[in-house]
Amino acid sequence: MGNRLRDLSGKFSAATRALRPSEVREILALTENRKVLSLAGGLPGPEVFPKEDLARIASRVLEELGDSALQYSPTLGVMPFREAVADFVRSKGVKVLSDDRVAVTTGSQEAIYLLAMTLINPKDAIIVESPTYLAALNVFRYYGAEFVSVPLDENGMKTELLEDKIKEAKSKGLNVKLVYTVATCHNPTGVIMPDDRRKELLEVASKYDLLVIEDDPYSFFVFDEVPFTPLKTLDSEGRVIYLGTFSKILAPGLRLGYMVADRQITRMVELAKQMVDLHSSTLSQYIALYALKEGVVERTIQKARVFYREKRDIMVETLEKYMPEGSHWFKPRGGLFAFIYLPDGVDTSDMLPMAIERGVAYVPGRSFFSDGSGVNAMRINFSYLPPDKLREGIRLIAETAKDYMKSKGK
Ligand SMILES: *Cc1c(COP(=O)(O)O)cnc(C)c1O
Repeated sequence: MGNRLRDLSGKFSAATRALRPSEVREILALTENRKVLSLAGGLPGPEVFPKEDLARIASRVLEELGDSALQYSPTLGVMPFREAVADFVRSKGVKVLSDDRVAVTTGSQEAIYLLAMTLINPKDAIIVESPTYLAALNVFRYYGAEFVSVPLDENGMKTELLEDKIKEAKSKGLNVKLVYTVATCHNPTGVIMPDDRRKELLEVASKYDLLVIEDDPYSFFVFDEVPFTPLKTLDSEGRVIYLGTFSKILAPGLRLGYMVADRQITRMVELAKQMVDLHSSTLSQYIALYALKEGVVERTIQKARVFYREKRDIMVETLEKYMPEGSHWFKPRGGLFAFIYLPDGVDTSDMLPMAIERGVAYVPGRSFFSDGSGVNAMRINFSYLPPDKLREGIRLIAETAKDYMKSKGK
């Protein structure tokens, strides 16, 4: 027996050595064993999980389906579930084209990963909202993608800037390949893109022959009357890849997401998924299938929407009451998050230890930008904590910000 290896850092691949821990997961770890009010995660409110329904359904699935619920199953998902997902998205106004197929994935995170794996060569450029969903940025970055950041306002991505941004990227020799967008109840800002911008986005995508990933975990939780049409529905050319998930409408622990896309895409995704995990959990798929058929998913959506709208209102009211002068935010039209800009000079990463000391956590804004901006921003989640704790958490953030500014002489 030789000496035990102490330092393995030289063993890891170059791409792996470049990985940085997810700021959100690190913060969650920090707050785990302490009495810290976490506005950092993206967790659905535990009060909306249909625990009793799921217990009943899980035992029914095992009784009725027996071994087949526990066996290996096809890579793109078990057929009755894929069909039920197609019906479900259609019922929500998502157009499924005749050449489209449904691929079941292990959360939409895996869908994003499989798309990066199958579509991205190093130096391919991806158009993203600025800010955007940080877990997607990380995956695309791992595959060597470059980002073209398009700013957003209360109506989402400023699509009028798209063409100039694309031309600029092309002049730098980048191969602009796709758009990644959370057009509906954007993470982290909660804004919704209206149809005129959606149409403009698709026109530009058509002109420059781009694929579009429409990541849509939140269109079930729209709180205000904002009309919009899924990009997938507005697209007749088959360039939109639509992603959905059961994480926010049933339970994230089931790890079930889905992709609706042209069958040429789902075929390559199938080959990639065979390498990654063979298939998503058979048992989870049957549980979700029964939950869809019995109306449990629909009831959970309705219930969650009421809870989350109330919490959104409480959050906005509390922000207005306590946040320091010079702060601003977009009123979230739906989803689970708000993105707050504190006055210039505040560095929310630098401020975070003070906040945790006071008993509250948030996610610093920088990680939501591909270009290091957002130093004075933060994302807060309003779905998880009960109303009184949510109020308290926001008050503590505001107090921390005021103290921080005082300590910096602002
Ligand atoms: C929550 C979320 C997801 C879903 O993640 P899962 O892997 O399905 O749990 C995907 N995209 C965005 C923008 C999200 O906020």
